[in-house]
Amino acid sequence: MHAIQENWELIKETIKREYELSNVVYATWIKNLKFHSVEDHVVTISIASDQSHILEYIIRKYKDFFQVTICEMMNDFYEINFILENVANENSEEPAENTSSEKIDLYRQANLATKYTFDNFVVGSNNNFAQSACLAVAESPGEVFNPLFIYGGSGLGKTHLMHSIGHYILDHNPNMKVLYVNSETFTNEVIESIRSGNSSSMNKLRDKYRTVDVLLIDDIQFIIGKESTQEEFFHTFNTLYNNGKAIIISSDKHPKQMETLDERFSSRFQMGLPADIQPPNYETRVAILLKIAEPYNKTGSISNEIIEYIATNIKSNIRELEGAFNKLIAFAKINNKPITMELAEEALKDMIYPDKPKLITPTIIIQVVAEHYGVNAQDITSKKRNAEFVLPRQVVMYLCRELTDISLTNIGKILDRKDHTTVLHGVNKIEEQLATNSELAQHIEIIKKKIIPN
Ligand code: ADP
Ligand code: MG
Repeated sequence: MHAIQENWELIKETIKREYELSNVVYATWIKNLKFHSVEDHVVTISIASDQSHILEYIIRKYKDFFQVTICEMMNDFYEINFILENVANENSEEPAENTSSEKIDLYRQANLATKYTFDNFVVGSNNNFAQSACLAVAESPGEVFNPLFIYGGSGLGKTHLMHSIGHYILDHNPNMKVLYVNSETFTNEVIESIRSGNSSSMNKLRDKYRTVDVLLIDDIQFIIGKESTQEEFFHTFNTLYNNGKAIIISSDKHPKQMETLDERFSSRFQMGLPADIQPPNYETRVAILLKIAEPYNKTGSISNEIIEYIATNIKSNIRELEGAFNKLIAFAKINNKPITMELAEEALKDMIYPDKPKLITPTIIIQVVAEHYGVNAQDITSKKRNAEFVLPRQVVMYLCRELTDISLTNIGKILDRKDHTTVLHGVNKIEEQLATNSELAQHIEIIKKKIIPN
């Protein structure tokens, strides 16, 4: 037996320790990697999966770890190679091919939307913790991280991950009873069965939710404060949990941050693993857009410049990123024009510059300046000549001149000054000082930023 094979477990454990891998990362990606062979200083590692993206992911992320660790331990140079061990082919009892219509049936019974899978979920630093936790749960439902509590802002991929878990489980264990439900739907079903007033409909509801192997309940924040729904969910949760069934919950916030959440829920939700999703950074936004653009790139093509333009300007969440992309495609189609940078700017102007049409008015300027200098807006427009009001007043004059098209005379009127030369004097005064007074320049920059965010 080769020394590498002999020390295989030790190698993996060393990697975990040296690179400080969390338990979930180790369990999801490393633990199941098997030593395959070593020949001519090439170590081949096999991974049992029927999904090539997992292989790609592991190579990209962990190959170097293996190489460094093995070379160090063996005190010799080795190349690392990975192969996919096709689990489906190895198992002769596996049905040849699950026909897609059967699969679609399974998905439908589980309330799953086919488009959300792990395959088309882009992993970045903002979501890799949640993604690996979801994958681990999908691989071992009920055995790890139970309940899994996914939380994060709107449009960041919670629902996508929940559906992905459902798909993954059904693809690997078609006999498992998986059920996805949004908590609003759950609430409506509870209300409906209470309203119907007969016990058989309540029993049916209980039967539906308490006999599943995997319950995915989305946007749990919507059941807070709804007494009977909460009660029903509480018992559903306990029944499933006590029977070792998998529960996956999503919410917009961490249980501790959900202020009106009952303590009995809060503690239960934290028993397993709370996993957060953060907004994506620039690189992840680009990667997601490239993924979204894939189908379109088969026919037309969208330049990197446009992808970068969208990723730079749309930051808040992925739903908006997708929305912007779809809007661009639709806009090009409707106008029967090729997708150019110019077209992108035109198509997305409402999304990218939603503030642009907002007019900058003297009122806004006065307000912001007053706030900045800690004086009352009325004092700025008054005749008072106290030094504390004179400077803000002159700044207002200057900014009105710079940021609006209003004439000196009209600026004078707004400031209750009859003579436009007073305004001109104020504007000049600030301009003169700006050349030498860097503190004033800084203040004016800050004020401008407050008036025109971004
Ligand atoms: P949430 O449930 O957190 O509000 P969704 O799961 O509905 O967000 O995500 C919004 C949209 O963004 C969906 O169309 C989803 O497919 C897409 N999306 C979110 N995260 C990703 C990702 N990491 N990779 C690819 N698409 C994503
Ligand atoms: Mg959602």
